[in-house]
Amino acid sequence: MSRTAAGTRRPPSSGARAGRAPRRVAMLSVHTSPLEQPGTGDAGGMNVYIVETAARLAARGTEVEIFTRATSSDAEPVTELVPGVLVRHVTAGPFEGLSKDDLPGQLCAFTAGVMRVQARREPDWYDLVHTHYWLSGQVGWLAAERWNVPLVHTMHTMAKVKNALLADGDRPEPAGRIIGEEQVVAAADRLVANTTEEAGQLVDLYGADPARVAVVPPGVDLGVFTPGGPRGRAGARRRLGLDPDADLLLFVGRIQPLKAPDVLVRAAAHLVAGRGGAHRRLQVAVVGGPSGSGLDRPEELQRLVADLDLDGVVHFHAPAPREVLADWYRAADLVAVPSYSESFGLVAIEAQACGTPVVAAAVGGLRTAVADGVSGLLVDGHDPAAWARAVGGLLDDVGRRDAMAAAAVGHAGRFSWDSTVDTTLDVYADAVERHRTRAAAPFEPARGSTLVLPQPVARAGVGAVAVAP
Ligand code: UDP
Repeated sequence: MSRTAAGTRRPPSSGARAGRAPRRVAMLSVHTSPLEQPGTGDAGGMNVYIVETAARLAARGTEVEIFTRATSSDAEPVTELVPGVLVRHVTAGPFEGLSKDDLPGQLCAFTAGVMRVQARREPDWYDLVHTHYWLSGQVGWLAAERWNVPLVHTMHTMAKVKNALLADGDRPEPAGRIIGEEQVVAAADRLVANTTEEAGQLVDLYGADPARVAVVPPGVDLGVFTPGGPRGRAGARRRLGLDPDADLLLFVGRIQPLKAPDVLVRAAAHLVAGRGGAHRRLQVAVVGGPSGSGLDRPEELQRLVADLDLDGVVHFHAPAPREVLADWYRAADLVAVPSYSESFGLVAIEAQACGTPVVAAAVGGLRTAVADGVSGLLVDGHDPAAWARAVGGLLDDVGRRDAMAAAAVGHAGRFSWDSTVDTTLDVYADAVERHRTRAAAPFEPARGSTLVLPQPVARAGVGAVAVAP
């Protein structure tokens, strides 16, 4: 960052002005591309989040360039996602065979690639850097300082939260990630949290300054995820080739211990055995593929299904594009989200938008995403018997389930990507203003884990830009 002889930072040279949307945002998504199909590997809710927000930012006149690591030699260096949104594939390390755990070793190469792109542009090309996940935050930290623009960061998940809520036998996130996250929290002008709970965690666990934390609820595409008319369920089952009379439970997402699909499978075993209601036509669909620590033992869930003698009950399906996924949600009687931790849980909102109640673990963002007792149920803990009781009770009570289905559509309707982007633009304007103020302040050493970290502060006041969905 440039400094004057007196040690003060120069005002930002960005074209963005307080209260005005930036012209161009460099958005960093190092470890996963917005072009990938979500629901397996490293692609999930964050990819959806980036695609949905970038497209809407562009529609409002803020161009977005998304930088992601090239994972195929076929990838074009630049691809237009939609008008106003470019995806830039940065070569950093081998295209294939590099796990997310190995990516910290490629951050220097990735940063060099980002810098090279910017160097070919006119000066002051980007007005703001928005980073997603801590790996991108590490790159954005340097880029934002070098370009003298504000850094906005969204965690998506936090190692300290995940480690506190690990599934039995799951491997914890490494110390290097925790340190890296702390550095990004300290460096960011604004931190975007999905919920007030996540904002509190940023403050309590990472020492974030509450004034820099903004709560921006994610959304759902209410044009794609719809109930599909009065015969929505029957039509969806027909299109998917499913039994029209089955009691259908659905799990959607990346298959890994954190997401606890095994809890649903064990609950299904209880139901089939007649404990928690007689469900002779119970079917469980699992839509998604292995991911994260689930890749260590990719066959584990299938083995559990075989061990519990549920081969005719539980069926696995490849990750589906969103139009097909909407049919899966419509087809289901209930969607289960038994995760151990979840910063939000887009699947829960998408399912409700399609008119399907959700039974979810009472953790993290799911407590916001599901209106307990209204649009679904929140279950404490992960005891399969308790899950069987919750799910079985709703399968048996058609009246209650129908009421929840109607309420689910209303609840999901409160979340939209348009309002996510409205608030994101407020956050950007705020970040520009903060950056301008910081630039005028006397010199302080850059914060980092070995220098002065902000002291933890009280939770009150979290949410400089907070909106209720
Ligand atoms: N998803 C999808 N196809 C699939 C499975 C999942 O498009 O077959 C999408 C789903 O629509 C949702 C996202 O992946 O938007 C998962 O997001 P969520 O927040 O539920 O979980 P995360 O992956 O962030 O842990």
